[in-house]
Amino acid sequence: MRFTVSGWRRAVVTLTLLGCGGASTAPDDTPKGTTPDIPGATVPGAPTGPFVPGSTYLDPDGYIEYQPGTAPLLIIAPHGGALLPAGLPDRTCAACVTVTDGNTQELARLIVDSFAVRTGKRPHLVVNRLNRRKFDANREIVEATGGNAGLERTWLWLHAFIDTAKAAAVRTAAKGLVIDLHGHGHAIPRLELGYLISASTLRLDDAALAAGSSTTQSSIAQVARSSVAGDAAIAVLNGPNSLGGMLATAGVPSVPSHLNRSPAAGDEYFSGGYNTARHGSQQGGVVDAIQIEAHSPGIRDTPANRERFAGILATALGRYLERHYGWK
Ligand SMILES: [Zn+2]
Repeated sequence: MRFTVSGWRRAVVTLTLLGCGGASTAPDDTPKGTTPDIPGATVPGAPTGPFVPGSTYLDPDGYIEYQPGTAPLLIIAPHGGALLPAGLPDRTCAACVTVTDGNTQELARLIVDSFAVRTGKRPHLVVNRLNRRKFDANREIVEATGGNAGLERTWLWLHAFIDTAKAAAVRTAAKGLVIDLHGHGHAIPRLELGYLISASTLRLDDAALAAGSSTTQSSIAQVARSSVAGDAAIAVLNGPNSLGGMLATAGVPSVPSHLNRSPAAGDEYFSGGYNTARHGSQQGGVVDAIQIEAHSPGIRDTPANRERFAGILATALGRYLERHYGWK
């Protein structure tokens, strides 16, 4: 499959902020503590544009949306889509998770806007507009499409858009950060930050964590070894100036953080899924990724709570980029 500039369809999109069907309390995503395989699927080279920051671009089917930004930050909303085209069959694979992460598409848009207001620079945004019953934008291609060959190009466009945003981030700041935004329905109302480090490993003390390969094999391997502030890798993971630490200090319980280093044995916890593994620095490179699984109450349940949380997260992301990436 070839991706050419002529294949891009500039779209004027009316943002229909549909709810996600009241399924916001059900858990989803990969089994806890596992790191998904990365298949050798061929992804086309990232398109070169030109792209106008703040404009909206769609794949030829209108399923995947990309808004280019100006900051070295990408927000992905893979599970907040609402589109249910009648011609698309539901995914039927045995292990398929089809529940929507309620209101996460709306939340992602608010985070982008809030970050732009606070910093004057706009994050990139990639949204899967399809309902998860039709397409899962956080899985390898077979499970993502449920075997529907017609959606394979959707999957390729999704990752081409992400690669485009990552390349732009690197041009902007020589490195970058991807946030894969989800919603969980676990019993404990706290943000679960996924770095491809299992809960049992997070429970090790800092000395054992530092002695092992937890951060060097994480989705933030790049920044963990090169924090501009000189912070140790473990501090970037769970210290007061980790992303979780900044969020916890701002009043949003988060794990891992200095106030809650790790999930307790038996706690439900998502350690990061396909996008985090594919697009972070676990395999090398200069772009990191963090999966954020947000609880619903007080965070993504009402417009006012989404607005409030978007502001807190945008502030934390700006500080995190400034402290650890040297970006302002
Ligand atoms: Zn999800």
